[in-house]
Amino acid sequence: MRKRGSALLVLLVAVMLLAISGWALEGGLRIPEIFPDEGAQDVPGVQGNMTVHFIDVGQGDSALIITPDGKNVLIDAGGTYAPSDLTRYISDRGVEVLDALVITHPHADHLSYADDVLETFDVRSVYHPGMDYGSVGYQRFLTAAEAEGCPVYTEMELDVGDELNISGAVTFQVLWLDSQADNANDASIVLKVSYGENDLLFTGDIENNIESIILHDQQFDLNVDVLKVSHHGSDTSTTQEFLSATTPEFGFISVEEGNSYGHPHSSVLNRLESNSVQYFTTMEEGSMVIRCDGENIWLMF
Ligand SMILES: [Zn+2]
Repeated sequence: MRKRGSALLVLLVAVMLLAISGWALEGGLRIPEIFPDEGAQDVPGVQGNMTVHFIDVGQGDSALIITPDGKNVLIDAGGTYAPSDLTRYISDRGVEVLDALVITHPHADHLSYADDVLETFDVRSVYHPGMDYGSVGYQRFLTAAEAEGCPVYTEMELDVGDELNISGAVTFQVLWLDSQADNANDASIVLKVSYGENDLLFTGDIENNIESIILHDQQFDLNVDVLKVSHHGSDTSTTQEFLSATTPEFGFISVEEGNSYGHPHSSVLNRLESNSVQYFTTMEEGSMVIRCDGENIWLMF
């Protein structure tokens, strides 16, 4: 009895230590306790770590990645707030140079701030599918990108499978882009961002058919930790098959409360839940930051 009692005590102490340290082990990945809401603006870049900001832009997408070797990458720049809300958020991180601006596709909710971003920051390279698309906002983006004078890469220069030449520490692999897609969502540049053992998938707004092509036509390792849920949680995307193949631990949905599209769709949220994906939305959390050290991932909000 005494032996069993001391074993139980050791177990109890171990559990308490684990609880005090704020971590729980789950499926090989250390799942952090969610920190109290201190505001994403309080989280600086951390030496040796990659930080990813899912920025609250209302109904739209924008994510800032700061790599351990000090490269700043903005994936999408569109939403329904004032443009200065985004540029100020980025400036407040101490960012003056964007090593890459990736506009996944030409819809306004992914590029409405792109010209402001190009005017505010020293942008060193621009990536977009290169679709023939007639909106005024898209033309403004193309004009601003040309005026920036940096290299602009489209499907003319990029192939599926290519790695973008941005960072020596983090790989940005193109899993999809299609300038000839029937609809702009399916043109989206899909990026797998990898730092050590941390893998994140940025899907733009691809829909079911493209998810299926990515799963079946290529031999990519699609097992990721973090999924930027496609198309703001629309039921056009994020199939069970896609979730089974990508097995994310965390899902991030950029979406505005009360949007007219009904995003995020309850069927997608149910699928995320039934696949044990812990998901977060900008409409509930505001801007969200995660920190990746190449092994573990911390939620900093
Ligand atoms: Zn969108």
